[in-house]
Amino acid sequence: MSAIGLAPHNFLLSWIAIGLACGSFVTVLVARIPERKGIQGRSQCISCKATIQVRDNIPVVSYLLLKGKCRFCKVPISMRYPLTELAALLLVAVAVESFQGWWKVLAWVVFSVLGLALAIIDLQTHRLPNVLTAWLFGLVAALLLGDILANHHADRIKMAVISSVALTFFYFLLNIISRGGMGMGDVKLAASIGLILGYINGSSVIVGTFCGFFFGSTISVMLMATGRATRKSQIPFGPFMLLGAFVAPWLTPHLVSIFL
Ligand SMILES: [Zn+2]
Repeated sequence: MSAIGLAPHNFLLSWIAIGLACGSFVTVLVARIPERKGIQGRSQCISCKATIQVRDNIPVVSYLLLKGKCRFCKVPISMRYPLTELAALLLVAVAVESFQGWWKVLAWVVFSVLGLALAIIDLQTHRLPNVLTAWLFGLVAALLLGDILANHHADRIKMAVISSVALTFFYFLLNIISRGGMGMGDVKLAASIGLILGYINGSSVIVGTFCGFFFGSTISVMLMATGRATRKSQIPFGPFMLLGAFVAPWLTPHLVSIFL
């Protein structure tokens, strides 16, 4: 899909750079959104508060060159940073490889990158900040609208809207039945997941939701079996909803061919 006229190796390198830059953006969102800080301005070392210079801010590469330590105070830098950057690179690579057309690729890149940030924030704080779920929905809707206008895909609007409304309603019912065990953040996140999966393929909404519950219950049982959680532990569900959504477009064709 070298549509912008780049040689294949330049094209690949550009996407690696974009993927890692997205990962760097995710680490900024994860560090600042829960603290209600703006996302502009340079990052600081969490220990000595030294401003991180441009040369020390290259995703993954700087971590390796600095051997995982702050240049000034030598305090270890968490492995979470390079791992988050690599996870974003993987998600971007999968989007570029799997979808046809720039609008759809961009919609999936935005969905998976902001989704990754939401999943990590939910794991760390048990919250899905409104500002991020709102941006996720707005940006994904705008990019899908771009695809509809550019590629005459008006036929997909109906399934996208129905899926978004149905999935939001489903999680809202779970919120009521579970008396808040399933949080309102999950309900708001469901609107974006239903929208993009419904736009890609109606069946993937069902597969994605099923996978989310499958991953969630498997991990919960494993945590309880190993004594790391009890029945009363609050295990955030957003990361599992997103993981289910991330694998759904690729699993759905296989599952459909097995079961139908
Ligand atoms: Zn430092």
